[in-house]
Amino acid sequence: MFAKIKTGLFAATALSVAAPVLAEEVNLYSYRQPELIKPLTDAFTAETGIKVNVAYLQKGMVERLQAEGMRSPADLVLTVDISRLAAVVDAGLTQPVESDTLNNNVPEQYRDPEDHWYGLTTRARVVYASKDRVAEGEVTTYEDLADPKWNDRICIRSGTNAYNVALTSAVIHHHGEEGAKTWLEGIKSNLARKPQGNDRAQVKAIWAGECDISIGNTYYMGKMLEDEEQKEWADSVQILFPVFENGGTHVNISGVAMTKSAPNKDNALKMMEFLTSPAAQEVYAEANYEYPIAAGTDAIELVEGWGTFTADDVNLMTLAGHRPAALRITEEIDFDG
Ligand code: FE
Repeated sequence: MFAKIKTGLFAATALSVAAPVLAEEVNLYSYRQPELIKPLTDAFTAETGIKVNVAYLQKGMVERLQAEGMRSPADLVLTVDISRLAAVVDAGLTQPVESDTLNNNVPEQYRDPEDHWYGLTTRARVVYASKDRVAEGEVTTYEDLADPKWNDRICIRSGTNAYNVALTSAVIHHHGEEGAKTWLEGIKSNLARKPQGNDRAQVKAIWAGECDISIGNTYYMGKMLEDEEQKEWADSVQILFPVFENGGTHVNISGVAMTKSAPNKDNALKMMEFLTSPAAQEVYAEANYEYPIAAGTDAIELVEGWGTFTADDVNLMTLAGHRPAALRITEEIDFDG
């Protein structure tokens, strides 16, 4: 770490003798919120002297990068969900990055086989179950959620939401398209109400007695506990970690990729290596109640307290490949209707 700082300072000093100093910097386009990113960018700057500029985007990352072309100031993109990472990669807007450090920090299933993106944290898509109306161990598999015993008891957000499309993609991976269609039809027929709202709204519906179980991402438990009104919803449920009959628990990631046009490539690589470092992963994970992914890292105690699980070991790029079929099936059976 010290060596890096010294090199950075030395380079800047040496430059200043010969030419006006160009500040060392790196530019991020982020779909993730400032409160998640700021602690990391501050730490990176403190360690390396490299200034980090962040543009926070709500949507339209692909369109913006396309419009800017090779003149784009962006070096790195930060986002959640494999579908969003894959969209930037598929549009030809990223470049492969080869680095032993990255490969050591990020387990194989959470990085692109072609080196275009690297995962930083995971979140599991799990079952939120009423503490009163669902017994411990009553939900064990995703397949089981399609069983008629759950008739009129499940709440879920839109089937076309990226989180649900990724889950359906995982079902395709395990059971093929026909199997996934049957599964999704089973879920639909078990719904207590039409898909609506976000993941937290489903937990509210359990609290209100409208349904007994819902599907949601793990970190929302932490978010609800933070909120005075939502804490009651959170307290009415427990997280159960289903697995696929022949696999593990479905997870998705947040990740980082280097743009094809990166003007500050060396600094961008340093930032990627920093972000994937076990210490940075833990800081990043803590900010959003997620799981760091490097070997030997842990989530915070609250998150660990929700239970342990084995993540499904499919490479997320495989799931991204099933996305079009997952969306098609969802629309074919009119899941939201
Ligand atoms: Fe979310």
